Amino acid sequence: MQSQPFARRIRSRRVAALASVTALTLAVSTSAGTGRLAPGATAAGAGSAAGLTRIAALAPCLINGAREIQMTEGVPTAGGYARSTGTVRALTVMVDFPDAPGEGDALDRFREFFPQTQEWFHTASYGRLDYRAETPIPTWLRMPKAFQDYGIERGAPFDPGYRQLVQDIVTAADPTVDFRDYDLLNVLVSPDAGPSALDTVLSVTFAGNGEAPTADGVAVANASFVYSRQDDGSGSYARTGYRVLPHENGHVFGLPDLYTQDGGGSVGHWDIMSEDWGANNDLLGWHKWKLGWLDVDQVSCAATSGTKEYTLSPLFRAGGRKLIFVPLAAHTGYALEVRTTGGNDEAVCHPGVLVYKVDANVDTGRGPVTVYDAHRDSGGCTRSPNVHAELSDAPFAPGETFKDPRRKITIEVTAKEPNGDYKVRVARG
Ligand SMILES: [Zn+2]
Repeated sequence: MQSQPFARRIRSRRVAALASVTALTLAVSTSAGTGRLAPGATAAGAGSAAGLTRIAALAPCLINGAREIQMTEGVPTAGGYARSTGTVRALTVMVDFPDAPGEGDALDRFREFFPQTQEWFHTASYGRLDYRAETPIPTWLRMPKAFQDYGIERGAPFDPGYRQLVQDIVTAADPTVDFRDYDLLNVLVSPDAGPSALDTVLSVTFAGNGEAPTADGVAVANASFVYSRQDDGSGSYARTGYRVLPHENGHVFGLPDLYTQDGGGSVGHWDIMSEDWGANNDLLGWHKWKLGWLDVDQVSCAATSGTKEYTLSPLFRAGGRKLIFVPLAAHTGYALEVRTTGGNDEAVCHPGVLVYKVDANVDTGRGPVTVYDAHRDSGGCTRSPNVHAELSDAPFAPGETFKDPRRKITIEVTAKEPNGDYKVRVARG
């Protein structure tokens, strides 16, 4: 339940239109700003003829949003965000204020989020994101002004309050910290600053913000701020309260908010960018693809007419095909993946094939992803608190079919294999 008033992204670094297979190779390899899939050296063998063919086959599925979309579901992710593969160093500071002094050991605040956040990313990324949180300043970093004086409230823009706060953090930390050593900044605020998260969630991320104050010659462009404690009083805080941080860090990697500002649930508990309270959950397969955690041979693009059978392996498990995308236009399509209990998905009450629409032209917080509920108006199957109930039984089970008659698309779940894989038949007219 975070707001996302991140500052304008820098547009000049947007990846250029994809004109050829060579350009495509490059674009895919840099989709998450990493060298892991460097041209000619990819796990999928992009340098080989077979690899190039595979990447070219995905071209119709690299949907892209219009330029005015602040934070789009498009692939590849635009430049300016933090890297999401390889070793990512997160400078983590614990900050307090004269009117909200930190109590006790600042590292206790750190330990509310770590190592859980690191482990969450390790699991979600199949080990491809080596997230390292570092605390070169292991004590409370005192800000010069009272919390009230920064004028920070829900939805507050970067200017002027957050600009001042980042500037004050930089000034206080600079003697100890070389900001060039880090990919992103986590600011863990003393829990007494501002309202309770039960009333108002202040936690926020400013991502891809090239106009942020600079430190050691680099802009503090990707910064997540965590306030209060997401403690619902159920006694689960110690186990699940950290989940606001992977949500906020999702923004620094370029992921939009999937909950909608009018409070309607369009994704439910199927992605941490939708719900970061309650039982542990994973990211959508689309997000894993966007973040560079899936190889090109783990994604299939159903762009041509005809009927084709696919095998999908559970999303949480490493290896195998994870995602089928059925493009509808240059900016949108249907995505299919298998969700079952395992990995970060700890409470899936109705396993099966999740079908959802991704629209790169719909901005963050406005519903860029819509999950289709195979069992509408059932009330759902979950018993977990803070889980959107109706969509908890959204996945399609064997024998169930998703139909889009207008576009002549039928998606049928035909079988579940003994090893947990699902068979899916996609028909395009
Ligand atoms: Zn958010």
